[in-house]
Amino acid sequence: MTAEEFDFLVRLLEAPSPSGYETPARRLLRERLDGVADSIEVDMLGNLYATLKGSGGGPRVMLTAHCDEIGFLVRHIDERGFIWFAPIGGVDPHLSPGQRVSIQTASGPVAGVVGKKAIHQMEGAEKDRVIPFTEQFIDIGAVDADEARRLVAIGDPVVFASRVERLCGERIASRALDDKMGAYLVLRAFLDLAGQQRLAGDVCAVFTVQEEVGLRGAGPAAWGAEPDVAFVVEIGHGTDTPCPRCPSYRRCPARQRASADPWAQRQPRPLRPADARRAGGGHPAAGTRRTARYRYGCQGDSAEPRRSRHRPGQGADPLRPHPLGGP
Ligand SMILES: [Zn+2]
Repeated sequence: MTAEEFDFLVRLLEAPSPSGYETPARRLLRERLDGVADSIEVDMLGNLYATLKGSGGGPRVMLTAHCDEIGFLVRHIDERGFIWFAPIGGVDPHLSPGQRVSIQTASGPVAGVVGKKAIHQMEGAEKDRVIPFTEQFIDIGAVDADEARRLVAIGDPVVFASRVERLCGERIASRALDDKMGAYLVLRAFLDLAGQQRLAGDVCAVFTVQEEVGLRGAGPAAWGAEPDVAFVVEIGHGTDTPCPRCPSYRRCPARQRASADPWAQRQPRPLRPADARRAGGGHPAAGTRRTARYRYGCQGDSAEPRRSRHRPGQGADPLRPHPLGGP
């Protein structure tokens, strides 16, 4: 990966785009596709479609990944200026207390810290309890409701204020590898195909929205793109991390179907629907599959192993040489 490509990937990963608020990520993707794709469209939900026309006669191919991420939503500002929030997607309530967050307001980001009852004020088993989101709040430093409400509005989306971090080797951590990494792979495949002799069939890259809140974009996107064949890129669980309940990670379907080592050279392999269910978590292929099975009578998807899904710092290894031999 070139320095310019890595810089783009970092900007994509850091563009705040919780489900339903994907505009910043979609804008970046669209900038790269402008002048390359033969046509670009955005549907009512916000799914972004870029098409390369084929030379004629071949199957229409869809490449797709979701470009939304988990986050939070401002639901209430109390009289003392504390901000109460709800999760967008499957956020683990264990992980949010103490985190710095960035509220995406109409006039720009506002920094905050997620608070909860201090450990000194807790007793006994209360210390072991998972603090539900209803008992967590965002402190932006406001002294009262007026000051908070001047800055923040009900409905503003919120993301963890974590940047892309370089880990050892060529690895990175980011809050949004699920699934901006997939979106980036789809983009790169599309750009590579655009630089080659046209395929017989059309190629349609689709960057879907609202995956984290119920695979909402993928189904309509499969209807919109009307593919003969669809390749869905999504993360799967990296199963090489310690887990007391799974002493033998070899039994994990993600291991069997993709690779337990998220740092290893990745080879997308077929992931059966049952495997996706066993591995846990939603997969936009399920949305595409629903439409595919219903409308086209076909299905198929792939999973990219990632460590620490749905956390402020998921891990991946994007800097390895391009599998197609490019930069
Ligand atoms: Zn995902």
